[in-house]
Amino acid sequence: MKDRFKAVMVRKDADKQIVEDVEIGLNDLMDGDVVVAVSHSTVNYKDGLVLTGRAPVVRKFPMIAGIDLAGTVETSSHSQFKPGDKVILNGYGLSETHFGGYAEYARVKGDWLVPLPQAFTPAEAMAIGTAGYTAMLCVLALEDAGVTPDKGSIVVTGAAGGVGSVAISLLAKLGYQVTASTGRTEEEGYLKGLGATEIIPRTELSGDPRPLAKERWAGGVDSVGSKTLANVIASLRYGGAVAACGLAAGMDLPTSVAPFILRNVSLLGVDSVQMPKPRRLQAWERLARDLDVSKLAAITQTIPLSGVRKAADDILAGRVRGRLVVQI
Ligand code: NDP
Repeated sequence: MKDRFKAVMVRKDADKQIVEDVEIGLNDLMDGDVVVAVSHSTVNYKDGLVLTGRAPVVRKFPMIAGIDLAGTVETSSHSQFKPGDKVILNGYGLSETHFGGYAEYARVKGDWLVPLPQAFTPAEAMAIGTAGYTAMLCVLALEDAGVTPDKGSIVVTGAAGGVGSVAISLLAKLGYQVTASTGRTEEEGYLKGLGATEIIPRTELSGDPRPLAKERWAGGVDSVGSKTLANVIASLRYGGAVAACGLAAGMDLPTSVAPFILRNVSLLGVDSVQMPKPRRLQAWERLARDLDVSKLAAITQTIPLSGVRKAADDILAGRVRGRLVVQI
């Protein structure tokens, strides 16, 4: 193990947030019963919010950024993990209240760790990352709500983003017809390559929502929120459901009760951060089974740790296609 190692640290200086490349030692890390040598992390939308300070995600300063990580256990006093085990970690306060994945080592609670599924390398697990694991949670929520492929097609909003790209791949492999809603219609080839059968411009869903619209989709995976989610809810078929996980267009939801009380539709909230362990394990098992790993290369770009600040600006500006893996 190295004595000193690199990390990306977010500090508060008076009212200003500063992001610095620092060198720290193991003693500087927070408490935990497992030390992980981090090989990969990722840049998710939330990492963009952290690194730019655009939303108050970080609740303790200074903070090592990075909401997820993959790596190898170096030391452990946790009964379920031993040195050499490959592990992944999503959420659980990483980069909010506990030092995150943008460092060569992380000391964390073993209870937060998920064993790396054999189907994936650490790099592939982070190509999926929190966005992809959340996409899987959305698909599980739709399945639990009875939205099976025979019920009709599914709309995926924010389609060319991280959650959207993985959701399309998963749904297509599971036999669903997928409509991809995107602001980047030039990405039609990419989205069809992932398995989307129809591409619609995001403007079709971003106007002022009516209480009820034409019944179009049996389900939805929405990472956009605001009017887009309201329009999806209004366009669900009778008995349909939409899994809502994101706010790329805003936190508001200008909807009405009409679709709920007249069409029996459901709004399924999805949180990945505090998701209990059994569901996490189920999600990663299902990713190992249901995600076409050969699609990950098309979805993913790999960047060095020094590239995360630029990537943060890019992801918030909607300029990132698919997923960004950070090689630590
Ligand atoms: P990305 O930036 O990769 O994807 C978001 C996509 O949304 C963009 O690629 C773009 O897709 C679309 N978009 C961006 N801005 C707008 C806008 N103003 N109006 C409409 N569409 C827009 O982010 P992620 O996939 O990492 O995350 C997506 C969302 O999900 C974020 O809000 C994130 O915070 C949330 N999230 C929530 C989790 C949870 O636990 N609930 C976990 C993970 C993510 P296109 O160009 O195709 O239109």
